[in-house]
Amino acid sequence: MDATRQRTSRRSLLKTGLAAAGAAALAPSSDILAQSQSATVVTAKRFRAWVSRGTGRARTTLQDLTLRGIIGRQVVVRTEATNLCYSNTGVVLGLPPVAAPAPPATQRPAQANAVPAPPPTGFGRLNTMALIQGHGGVGIVQAVGPDVRRVQVGDRVCVSGTPQCGSCYQCLRGRADMCQFLGRQGPDDLVPVAEMRDGTPVFMNSHIGGLGELMVTFEEWVVPVFTKATAVDLGMVCSCVSVAGLGATTSHAAGLVEPGSIVAVVGCGPLGLSGVQGARISGASTIIAIDPVRARREVAMTVGATHVLDPNVEGDRLVEKVRELSKGPNTRLWAGGRDSGGLLGGAGADFVLEAVGADQAKPKVEVGPDPTGILPLRQAYEMCAPGGHIVTTSLPRGNLTLPAVMFTIGGRTHHAGQAGGANPMRDIPRFVELLDKGQYHAKALATRVVPIERMLEAYEDVVYRTTVTAIMTV
Ligand SMILES: [Zn+2]
Ligand SMILES: [Zn+2]
Repeated sequence: MDATRQRTSRRSLLKTGLAAAGAAALAPSSDILAQSQSATVVTAKRFRAWVSRGTGRARTTLQDLTLRGIIGRQVVVRTEATNLCYSNTGVVLGLPPVAAPAPPATQRPAQANAVPAPPPTGFGRLNTMALIQGHGGVGIVQAVGPDVRRVQVGDRVCVSGTPQCGSCYQCLRGRADMCQFLGRQGPDDLVPVAEMRDGTPVFMNSHIGGLGELMVTFEEWVVPVFTKATAVDLGMVCSCVSVAGLGATTSHAAGLVEPGSIVAVVGCGPLGLSGVQGARISGASTIIAIDPVRARREVAMTVGATHVLDPNVEGDRLVEKVRELSKGPNTRLWAGGRDSGGLLGGAGADFVLEAVGADQAKPKVEVGPDPTGILPLRQAYEMCAPGGHIVTTSLPRGNLTLPAVMFTIGGRTHHAGQAGGANPMRDIPRFVELLDKGQYHAKALATRVVPIERMLEAYEDVVYRTTVTAIMTV
């Protein structure tokens, strides 16, 4: 709390702070800054953060930065902990994009005639900017802009992976997971929040960052939490993946998992394992956890799974196996029973959480049956019972083919969205309560904890799946 706070005019801020970032930062088209016209709070502080820029393995380096002034609805948070999200591994570690199949030799341009790649456009331009990566985290509010109402200096907060403005079309319809500010994270929307020694402006990925001693975000991304939980436990339960897993199983569309129901969780990374816990908390009686990695299946059993399946062992029979485990003790239709028919019958899980996605690198543990994530996605859909619900959360690669009649009249309801449908302001405090009351087991998932200096080595464990996930502490 040693930040120096002083008020300056907007004109002087432009001179000393945001002006260097160029006019785009204050362009009238930016909704992010649209209401930031009032008095300015300037914080002068140096801090360390991992900054990513350019290409290759060396693109992410630990830098000393100077915080710029904040305005309007901006919030400065001193980071306590952040989860190292798998979806960020490519940009943090500078992994080459997973290659598409090579075209036939006759279609390849001759090396001598190769044209230099044009400068990246659209979201690709983010790679040329100095970005603090990360998906939010937890910490203490250090400074707030004059328009901020949701939090105060000194509050403990979750910087959520998804925003909730409360005012947009989606938020007003109860779909805060799809808040329209999600679409305001492109190169022209980001606001410079700090600078490097040479004056290079530094931005926060998705307006939140996380891989630094400070996060500079906007009010819409911040959720106050009132808890004495440790930084690691809180960082785990407030991570994008835990919020998505718990959101899918305890809050999506007012709770789709009924007490006594049968749940299948496809993919037991931190998201799926949070889903296993959410299913247990919601009262599911059968929880089938599916993952190729033995260590992850073992964790699943400790946090609530009643059965585990290895998709490499089950192969093409995986869907049948889930149907078999789901048919219950009674197949007499006049007595409330289910039969085993796949399309219109009753077999299958009442609720399926799909949480696999594409590999960003080949795992150093057991490799799954499909690195694109498409096969497990199709299997997840097919193992859902007619009348059941499936929530998908992953980032697969490619196109999905489904049995068309099952899709059109098979009775399965598919839910897609961000954060498993969680509504940050409503649900994150509830998830923290689950942690505080011992219902959510954070330690089982945070199997690697590192200080900020060792972030990169922990990210290697994440990308090669030799840990469930990793938490960076500051
Ligand atoms: Zn994430
Ligand atoms: Zn909104």
